[in-house]
Amino acid sequence: MADRREMWKALGMDVDTHDGLCAALPVAFGDVYLSQKNRPEGMAFWDFVVSDIHGIRPAELLEAQKEGRKVFGTFCVFVPDEVVVAANGIVTGLCGGSQFWVPDGEKVLPKSTCPLVKASVGARLGRTCPFFRIADMYVGETTCDGKKKAYEILGEDVPMYIMDLPQMKRECDILKWKDEIAAFAKKVEEFTGNTITPEKLDEAIRLINNKRKALARVFEARKNPDNIPISGTDALLVTQIAFFDDPARCAEMCNKLADELEERNRQGVSVFEKGTKRIMITGTPMAIPNWKLHHIVETSGAAVVCEEMCTGTRYFENLVEEGLPTLDEQFMALSKRYMKNNCACFTPNPGRVEDILRLAKEYHVDGVIDVNLKFCCLYDTEGYSVERALREAGIPVLGIETDYDDGDSEQLRTRIGAFVEMLG
Ligand code: SF4
Ligand code: SF4
Repeated sequence: MADRREMWKALGMDVDTHDGLCAALPVAFGDVYLSQKNRPEGMAFWDFVVSDIHGIRPAELLEAQKEGRKVFGTFCVFVPDEVVVAANGIVTGLCGGSQFWVPDGEKVLPKSTCPLVKASVGARLGRTCPFFRIADMYVGETTCDGKKKAYEILGEDVPMYIMDLPQMKRECDILKWKDEIAAFAKKVEEFTGNTITPEKLDEAIRLINNKRKALARVFEARKNPDNIPISGTDALLVTQIAFFDDPARCAEMCNKLADELEERNRQGVSVFEKGTKRIMITGTPMAIPNWKLHHIVETSGAAVVCEEMCTGTRYFENLVEEGLPTLDEQFMALSKRYMKNNCACFTPNPGRVEDILRLAKEYHVDGVIDVNLKFCCLYDTEGYSVERALREAGIPVLGIETDYDDGDSEQLRTRIGAFVEMLG
């Protein structure tokens, strides 16, 4: 692995503190990932990416910046990558998934903020993540209160643009989101100095659609009721890295992996023994390197076959209509696609319950774990209707609240172990 310290120093990072993360991550990755048996060979790409996660992609982004390209950091799947790509910009995910960053976040945020927000703010203010240093502009969105207020603090440190996401799904809300996308496109044009034409936007729409289709192929292979060709832990990593990677490369690598998974399904090559219980995880997103729950489930006698979350199906389901001739129509097509995302920030939000029941069937799940990141009021509250609907449909469900800290791991292991046993 190349020595990245000079690059990190030049980015103004606190390199000594960052060393702590560099020391802990390979151990965590080895324990969670490399200890798995019979992994698809295609996972070697993602192992390689993680082996130098703060080096490879940041170095690429810095090269792109030297060529005059701008990097936009985002925190939510509602920010349309297509608009940035159409202006020759680059999108990188910024959500923090490590406890390492939480204490720095807690210096400025209430402790009762969800760990994802605390870690994201901590990664910036503690200067311990190169992606947070590289992004030329952050793009926030008005989804949850925790993020909205955190953006005000981040905005003191870095250029910040906020998209105002409607919280209902009426026709007027879809039109309103279309206007927000158009306003964002203007901002992106100003910031990059590049004009967004219908041709460029259509190209970008196809590029991001291709990435979605490739991720969907990986997930499709997980629907096989008789074979589990990839662990949920590996599939989660694929989705997590998709937020950071170049979209064309992401599509290429996911398609290669999907080829292998389809072949494994034909040959009956499974990561788990026949009869292993199939679990779907639903709820709050799991930003990298939050692998805690998947690891516990998959070392407790069950397999995760689907994630109904933004680091899962919500990231790639639904495509944007291609081939539209005007920007106005394209912005509308983008709005329609993004507004199909059933985040718990909407009210009412019956679409999410419908998604969960549909996915439970499609992925042939034996049980669902509804997970909530501590202090996420949205998903916590929605857990009431989600869990009720699952029970009514006769699908066993376990509700869990957790954070990034490992302190509750043993307790979770006991509860999940009992749940899996009950499924048997
Ligand atoms: S859960 Fe909601 S707010 Fe969070 S990333 Fe997903 S869409 Fe955005
Ligand atoms: S997990 Fe909940 S509280 Fe945290 S950022 Fe997402 S929506 Fe907001």
